[in-house]
Amino acid sequence: MPKTHVDLAPLRVGKGRRPRLDRRDPGDDLGLDRDDEADILADLTERLERQQGLLAASRRSLLAVFQGVDAAGKDGVIKALGHAMQPMLIHLRGFSTPTKPELAHDYLWRVHQETPEKGRMSLFNRSHYEDVLVVRVDELVPRDVWEPRFEQINRFEQFLTDNGTTIVKFMLHVSPDEQLERLRERVHNPIKRWKHNPDDYARRAQWDEYAEAYEDAIRRTSRPDAPWLIVPADRKWVRNIVVMQAIAEALEGMDLAEPPLPEDLPEELRHAPAP
Ligand code: AMP
Ligand code: MG
Repeated sequence: MPKTHVDLAPLRVGKGRRPRLDRRDPGDDLGLDRDDEADILADLTERLERQQGLLAASRRSLLAVFQGVDAAGKDGVIKALGHAMQPMLIHLRGFSTPTKPELAHDYLWRVHQETPEKGRMSLFNRSHYEDVLVVRVDELVPRDVWEPRFEQINRFEQFLTDNGTTIVKFMLHVSPDEQLERLRERVHNPIKRWKHNPDDYARRAQWDEYAEAYEDAIRRTSRPDAPWLIVPADRKWVRNIVVMQAIAEALEGMDLAEPPLPEDLPEELRHAPAP
């Protein structure tokens, strides 16, 4: 029997638990066989399309947050999701260095504007978590400013959940060796060169500090309503399957109802088309 389903439970971080990134293998294939990839993706695509259609007819929404070091695969997995779903129903937002107006507001201001409309999903390429990650590592604000943010973020996310938004958070866990390979690829492949940023290489010197910042952020903000998943991300195809399955499961867990047949249909629309 080929394995077509990943057990996501071990990837999910329980409330108050340490993710222990050092004990997780970024190269893990989770027992999947690459020969089954196409079948698994076809099945996940069908599930996602169905759930996306039900979501669009509902008053609920979904927010997926993607975090990870440079070249961890945030862009790549979002591209895969775009293939599997109707892009018109997806709101995409990447969070870079804050602009002047953004810096003039509280750090959640720019984030709240991008949370999903009812019926939609938002995919965040980086997020408010940068405000407890890069901001901490680079000491952009003092500890007594970033430290209370964990609780502020929990309350913000709770508020979104209370208002109908399901939240899933993905930490794309890549190894330093794989990251270096990908940074090299960005330099030498002209099609990927637009992604090259010398700072990404320089930041490798801060690997341990980022690891510590991620450990804390994940431990302090993973909750049953807004869990973190640690995605083994050295193999892009495994990463894509894990994320797509987790989003499919999150949507299925929302128990979205099929919308009823519209009332007062004109005669010609009353009969279902031949299959
Ligand atoms: P990229 O994802 O490659 O477009 O890079 C975006 C950059 O913006 C990364 O280096 C992030 O660390 C940085 N960034 C994102 N959010 C913040 C923030 N709130 N404060 C400072 N830098 C940020
Ligand atoms: Mg970058």
